[in-house]
Amino acid sequence: MAKLKINNLMNDKDIAWKKITCKCDKSDIEKCFPIFKDCIHCKCQAQQDSMPREQFTMTYNEMDKNKQPTGKLLSKTIKEITIDRSVDGYNSIRGWSYHG
Ligand SMILES: [Zn+2]
Repeated sequence: MAKLKINNLMNDKDIAWKKITCKCDKSDIEKCFPIFKDCIHCKCQAQQDSMPREQFTMTYNEMDKNKQPTGKLLSKTIKEITIDRSVDGYNSIRGWSYHG
């Protein structure tokens, strides 16, 4: 797959959560889950890991002119996304929106 164009990337050195050390007890996997809820580092890492890096195909419902689904599925290739970063000071990836 081709590389995805990602907007709003930051250098690692400027990303606040990457400077927070992990406080998970990795020796006990049950203490790490669900989703490292008590560890900001791992929570932010999981958010980052869930972001796509390569172009992907998205399937969506075709809409008629009244914005009602026609029942037909269409697909398109997503080539560009923009990261939505948190404004809580951690610069974590809250989500992303796609273009095209
Ligand atoms: Zn952790």
